[in-house]
Amino acid sequence: MAEEAHSQVIDQVVQRALDEANLTEKHLSAVAVTIGPGLSLCLRVGVRKARQIAGSFNLPIVGVHHMEAHALVARLVEMELQFPFLALLISGGHNLLVLARDLGHYVQLGTTIDDAIGEAYDKTARWLGLSMRRGGGSALEELAREGNAQSVKFSVPMKQHKDCNFSYAGLKTQVRLAIESKKIDTETPIFSASSQDRSLRADIAASFQRVAVLHLEERCERAIDWALKIEPSIKFLVVSGGVASNQYVRTRLGEVVKKNGLQLVCPPPKLCTDNGVMVAWTGIEHFRKGRFDLPPPADEPEDFVFDLRPRWPLGEEHTEGRSGAR
Ligand code: ATP
Ligand code: FE
Repeated sequence: MAEEAHSQVIDQVVQRALDEANLTEKHLSAVAVTIGPGLSLCLRVGVRKARQIAGSFNLPIVGVHHMEAHALVARLVEMELQFPFLALLISGGHNLLVLARDLGHYVQLGTTIDDAIGEAYDKTARWLGLSMRRGGGSALEELAREGNAQSVKFSVPMKQHKDCNFSYAGLKTQVRLAIESKKIDTETPIFSASSQDRSLRADIAASFQRVAVLHLEERCERAIDWALKIEPSIKFLVVSGGVASNQYVRTRLGEVVKKNGLQLVCPPPKLCTDNGVMVAWTGIEHFRKGRFDLPPPADEPEDFVFDLRPRWPLGEEHTEGRSGAR
């Protein structure tokens, strides 16, 4: 179904982007396309289209890493953001803390051992009967504003692990148990809930959000410590990915960064969630450094096998200090 959805819209989407920019393919210098990580069926739809354009107009191709694009779009909005910098990438499928040393050169300080925070937001939103139309995360953020964040005592994940990894599966279970114990009917959408029931849901939303973000805060503090030991010149923490469009997340991480003498760079919300601009921008960065593939032949066969990277880690893993420096 996902592949079909991609195939159905790809031509229109590309055409609309060109139209809105008042350009045609002839004006382009190169084509950037996501080659991983992700579902290979969906990646293939994009890569096929990119190769078609590149083949017909004799343009080089730049293969882009989806998570590098989430991080680097920050350099489009903040000109002062030079390498090295620290990045927290929080989305539906990833929860990464990386030290960006240079273009294409990343050290992974932490990742999730189970779910990403966006997945926890989405699942909680569904259980609370929120509308998933604009994404569960933003609906939950809105409901949380009505609630008391101290009312349900969820515990912060992985307190005893002195590293930079994340875990959200346990918090999800805690939320589910709280919903059950308060006898909230998860089948009833929020708009038909009684006002008392609505305020219970808001309390759970606010309490979940407080602890989910506290986990980010704690990990970021430790990552800043680690990163400064490796690269003392670091000045910025970039926070990007869909969950970074959350205002509460932005405010809380802003405090952490200030306390540690760094600056926060958070792209505007529409550049935090998935978008084409971030892929184009990352393509530009690599293209400028001469990292691209030559144009494919114009008559490339339909069944040509190209290089996709459905599983593609962003940089190597950081192993020093794992025993817990704090
Ligand atoms: P990945 O980047 O890991 O491959 P993805 O591309 O599917 O995942 P993104 O578009 O980067 O995801 O982010 C989508 C996620 O961001 C969803 O889980 C969504 O709930 C979450 N999200 C979006 N807006 C908010 C918000 N305001 N508050 C919390 N979460 C949000
Ligand atoms: Fe994404």
